Parts: sequence; structure tokens; C-alpha cells
Amino acid sequence: MTPLEFLKQQSGNVERALSETLRYDYGPSQTREYYRECGDRLERIKNAIATTKEADLHEIQARLDELSGLSVWISLIERSRLGEFSWPFAEALRKMAETLLADTNLSGSSTPPIVHIVSDGEGYLIHYEGTSPSSKNKFAFVAFPRPLKHHVLLHSLFGHELGHTALHTVGAGTILQNKVMAALQSRGPLSSAAAMTAWLHDKSAPLEIKAELHRYETLNAGASYKMADFYLLSWLDEFVCDLFGLILFGPGFAAAHRFYLSPTHPNPYEFSPSTDPTHPPYAMRHRLLVNALHLLGWDKPVTSRPPVQESEKELLKYIFHDPFDAWCTLLSDAQLQNAIQGIQEVFAQYGKLGYARPTDDNLTKLVHQLQKRLPPIIAELSSIGDPVLSEIDISHTLYAGWIYSLGHKHLTSEPLSFLQTNMLCDQALLQQRAIAIAISKKVK
Ligand SMILES: [Zn+2]
Repeated sequence: MTPLEFLKQQSGNVERALSETLRYDYGPSQTREYYRECGDRLERIKNAIATTKEADLHEIQARLDELSGLSVWISLIERSRLGEFSWPFAEALRKMAETLLADTNLSGSSTPPIVHIVSDGEGYLIHYEGTSPSSKNKFAFVAFPRPLKHHVLLHSLFGHELGHTALHTVGAGTILQNKVMAALQSRGPLSSAAAMTAWLHDKSAPLEIKAELHRYETLNAGASYKMADFYLLSWLDEFVCDLFGLILFGPGFAAAHRFYLSPTHPNPYEFSPSTDPTHPPYAMRHRLLVNALHLLGWDKPVTSRPPVQESEKELLKYIFHDPFDAWCTLLSDAQLQNAIQGIQEVFAQYGKLGYARPTDDNLTKLVHQLQKRLPPIIAELSSIGDPVLSEIDISHTLYAGWIYSLGHKHLTSEPLSFLQTNMLCDQALLQQRAIAIAISKKVK
């Protein structure tokens, strides 16, 4: 078989793989668009193959590379079967991604990415294409961790991942770079790699940091650790994305952040200087969230009546638990305030996103629902028996779920498990979709 014959055969194989994906049962909407975009990309490759010469081996290799790139996207279709992740949460995330990651062309019209959702064996992940081979739509793919299928309370961690992808867009990314990143870099340890190196070596640094730096020196013939520019930028990305998630989903994000990350950081100051220090120590990340929550005014309970207020206080105690060294504070309040404003600017410009506190009444009603072992929604009856429905923001459903999870001892003697609470919240998100449809029909 000649290289060109092999290329043609591969093209046929990829085409067959694409048509085979049609047999799966997918979530509502969007899969058709995704399929069509894959079809367009394949058509483009096939046209190029038609004019490829037998002797042009470089051209053949380039087409084979394109085909293998495309088959990765096609294989993702097969991993997006319905029922393998929380689809009401996925739908909400899709809407956020479409507005935040849209490209604006020269004529001012905006093209949203085709957001594809899959379940995966790994952690929370969003991958966003830098450029589109078809020059039409870019793909963004969102991977839910399969083992945490029902754990919607943790899914707000996608707020952090959305931040990573938004950083690379022209619209939202430019504001994040110019306002948020700039605020973090304006002074102090994050202002340069040299400043961070000095901070790590400062005599006020915790003993764990001193021990890590000492270990580095032993492994590197006595050479003292120097932070590289690349890693400082990577730390800055992580801080920006933590703030992004917090301001998108509110205190529920901070609860998920601690719940998910602290068990994997038995040494909260660890940053792996000898291997690949891509992430700042957990303790620094936690401190940033705690300080930001204070500045945002989200440190006080929303609810005012017992026993729900007691349970909310229990959650706040969990979120604000901060035994870490004073050295972990890297930013002044003014720097942090500027960074927060920059992120709020992104949310105001792209899709009116961002957390706003619920009302005392609504939040209390949501927690009461969980107390009664029901999904946290608000659906009441009027005096004449008409249903009275309320639209509840996804972040409020999650916040109620967290209040119950961490403060249930004030609410019941027979609490639901964490998994059951998550499943009721997931159910609530599903019902909330139906409520939103019912409300929109009534208005029309
Ligand atoms: Zn990250």
C-alpha cells in the first residue's frame, strides 16, 4: 500500500467512525451542530486529499495529522452519552461557556464555540481550541469526572476551569490580563519571579517551605532555588482562576475548593520545587479566597433565623477555617479589590454572570426543603391553588446544599448523606429547568 493509498483509507475510516457516532443517545441540543462541524472538517480534508500527489510525502503526512486530530474530536462524541453526568448543570455551564468564550469578528458579530460535554476518568477539565481548522466554530470540550457524576456541589469547581479557558480568549481574556493579572503583578511577591524567589526564601516563610527549599539544594549540589518566569505565570493563572470561580459561583465555590483540594494537600505548603511547580501551595490559594470573601462581604450569614442560620454559620466556619501562616498573604486589600473589580467587569460584559447573594427568605425556604428531604426548589401554591414558581440561581441551590451538608446537625437528627444531598440538589437543578420553561411560557 502506498502512503497515498493509506491516507485515503484513513479518510474512509474516520468518515465511518463519524457516521457510527449517530447511534448514541446524547443529551439535548447541540450534538447535531458538533456532528456537522466534524463533517465540515472532514470534507475539507477530503478535498485536500483529492489534489494530493503520490510523491508529496509531506502533504500526505500533514493530512494524516489532520485526520488524527479530527478523530480525537469524533471519539469525544461517543463519550457524551446521556446519564453519565449531571446534564442540568452541564446545560448551565454550556450557556456560561458560550457567552464567555465567544469570538467577536471584525464586523462585530460574535461566534460562540460549540461546547461539547463528556464524562471522563480524570478531574474537572475544559479544553478550548485556539483556532478552528474550518475557520467557523471552535470546539470547547468540558469533561465531568465520571466518579463524581452525582456530586453537583463540587461541580462549581468548573468556575476555575472556565477561568483558564477565558484567559485565552480575545474579549474576556484581554480584560483578565489587563485588569486582573495586572493588579496581582502590580507589587509584592507576585510582581516578578525574583520577588517570588525572595518571598520563598524569606526568613518569615513556614518551616515546611524552608524544608522543601533545603531538599531542593541537597538534590541540586547546593544550588539555591530560583522561581522561573514560566512558573510564576502559571501561579498567577491559578490565582486568577480561583478568583474567577469564586466570583462566578460565590461561597459554594470556596466550600467545594476546600472540600476537594485539602485532602490532596496533606502538606498545605507543598509546591514541588524539584519537579514541576505549576501550582502555588494550597495554603496560599485558600488564603486568597478567604481574603476575597471578606472584601466581597460574603463572610456574613444571609439567613437570620434559627436553626437555618446556625447551619449557615457552620458552613461559613468551614469555609473560613484558615490555620495557615501570615506569610501566605501575597496581595494587599487594594490589589485584591482591583482584581475582583476586573473579574466583575468581565461578567458584566459577557452574559451578566456572577454571584449575587440570595434573599434570606429564599435561602431559608431552600434549606427547609432539604430538611424535609426534598429537592431545594421554591414551588408553592397561591390561596386559590395556582402554582407559584420562582426561578432560583444555580449558585443558590448549591449554597443551600452546602449549608445542609455541613450544618445538618442543627436541622435534623437523621441527616441525608453527602451523596443523597448532592442527588437532591441535582434533582432540583433539573426541576428548575422545567420551572424556567413554565415561567417563560407564562410571560409570553
Ligand atoms: Zn487551574
